Amino acid sequence: MAWSLTYQDWQNKAACRGPQSLEFYPPAHGERREEKQHREQRAKAICRTCPVNTECLDFAIGGRELHGIWGGTTEVERRGLIGLSV
Ligand code: SF4
Repeated sequence: MAWSLTYQDWQNKAACRGPQSLEFYPPAHGERREEKQHREQRAKAICRTCPVNTECLDFAIGGRELHGIWGGTTEVERRGLIGLSV
C-alpha cells in the first residue's frame, strides 16, 4: 500500500501495516516472475483478511494507483478495472 496519497482514516485499520507491508511491492533488487507471483499471492492473502478491503480498492482505483497490491488486486488487475490497457 502506498501512503504517499492523502492519508485516509480507514488506513489505520489496514491489515498490511507493519513488516508484512514488504509483500505489497517488489523488492528494490528486483524479483523473478515466480517470486513475484508468490509475493503477490501472500499479499492477496493478507488483503482477504483486511477489514478495509473495499475502501482500499476504491481508493486505489479512484487515485489510479498502478503500483503494488491494493484491495487484493495486482497492478495488472487494476489496470483492467480502470480501463487501461494491460
Ligand atoms: S486491502 Fe490489502 S492493501 Fe488494502 S489496506 Fe487491506 S491489506 Fe492493505
